[in-house]
Amino acid sequence: MKSELRPHQAKAMDLLRRSLGSGKRRPMIQAPTGFGKTLLGASIVDGALAKGNKVTFCVPALSLIDQTVQAFWDEGIRDVGVIQASHELTNAERAVQIASVQTLERRVFPETNVIVIDEAHRWFKVYERWMNDPLFENVPFVGLSATPWTKGLGKFFDDLLIASTTKDLIDAGYLSDFQVYGPSTPDLSGVRTLAGDWHEGDLGTAMDKPKLVADVVSTWCRLGEDRPTLVFAVNRAHAKHLRDEFEASGVSAGYIDAYTDADERDSIRRSFHSGEIKVVCNVGCLTTGVDWDVRCIVLARPTKSEMLFVQMVGRGLRTAEGKQDCLILDHSDTHQRLGFVTEILHENLDDGRPKTSSNSKNVEKKEKLPTVCPSCSFMKPVGMHACPSCGFLPEKKSDVEAEEGELVAMKGGKKQKYTAEDKTRWYSELLGYCHEKGKSRGYADGKFKDKFGHWPATKWGISPVKPSPEVLSFIRSRNIAWAKSRRKKENAA
Ligand SMILES: [Zn+2]
Repeated sequence: MKSELRPHQAKAMDLLRRSLGSGKRRPMIQAPTGFGKTLLGASIVDGALAKGNKVTFCVPALSLIDQTVQAFWDEGIRDVGVIQASHELTNAERAVQIASVQTLERRVFPETNVIVIDEAHRWFKVYERWMNDPLFENVPFVGLSATPWTKGLGKFFDDLLIASTTKDLIDAGYLSDFQVYGPSTPDLSGVRTLAGDWHEGDLGTAMDKPKLVADVVSTWCRLGEDRPTLVFAVNRAHAKHLRDEFEASGVSAGYIDAYTDADERDSIRRSFHSGEIKVVCNVGCLTTGVDWDVRCIVLARPTKSEMLFVQMVGRGLRTAEGKQDCLILDHSDTHQRLGFVTEILHENLDDGRPKTSSNSKNVEKKEKLPTVCPSCSFMKPVGMHACPSCGFLPEKKSDVEAEEGELVAMKGGKKQKYTAEDKTRWYSELLGYCHEKGKSRGYADGKFKDKFGHWPATKWGISPVKPSPEVLSFIRSRNIAWAKSRRKKENAA
């Protein structure tokens, strides 16, 4: 291995070693977008090779074969063969085999000591057959997935290993933070449900209406800040209509789907990165074309699937130079239905059995769901009363409190109103941050003054609480600004 593992990757390796050491043979590693799953995969392979083992690494899509070969090669893993039709790297003697699941279905299982199943939320019958083959009873099958929540996966895997969550990775700066607006609510009343998600045909009819399509574009023009944007559509016709509507409004837009060939995809990618194309409307492109510098996500594809939702939003969470956060414009109601992606947590794999306590769970979930600011459509985390984006206070608060608020200039010329109550919350969260990081109270005071332009009015009797994403992202932005100004000074000196 050439690369050194990041702390969360090293932790995943450690969890895996312990799981196998305790006798488990079917561990599943949950590695969210941004985790560096490929590097983790290479590390697992590397570790197996060091013990003289042969490894088979299974992928669910042809496009992932060469990508994986390249990634392993870059890590110094060169003894690699491929099992995929008559691929030029076919060589059964090699210690590492990268296998397409479609080819495995038609062949005898390769001789191997360890099997890694990449993107394991995409489950295939052949895996089940392989796991149940007595010859492989004691052979470890290691699952890798950002979203191992497929129904019934717990029947095949016996140990869910969560090395870190999306929230952990955002807090540690490996993923970008995000802010969400919910500008419209689609009418899905006639849409049927099929296999746990909306019926795609019905969904197309519900979403692909001229007024809704126009609304997506006008909202983007209003809130999109001209960011490089990826739009998720229901089907190909819908994606093309969206692209046409953007073009008609003078916004250069592209279109890709799962059948767009590699050359064209590459050319769109280049135009996207050069700024020639601002918006790319897509359908069915989740496993390919994932490493673009996307700074705004438009959700025009409603879903009931947490997996699909997390994967769509995940396309916008990669960090990039000069990127503060990802803007999410949700036209699908998904945040109101499923919550923020950082709130989607499962401690256990689904064993396929109906949930008995699902009712109480739903209530719990409902209490955690964000709400949309009626004034600016900003998606507010649960418990937040005043809108942090526009300062709007929903009724129930007295006018006095509203008057106490004052406008604070935010970047981009947005004005924000904070009440005394909001400021107290901010101060207690800043204290919570200091508490976590072992910093003094003076640090919280300083950050408070940075934010509001004056020292906290009340300092004592306020207890520290866990800082919210809003406060954390403010601290981070101040730290970045501070580091930049220091660099400037150093350069000037
Ligand atoms: Zn608002």
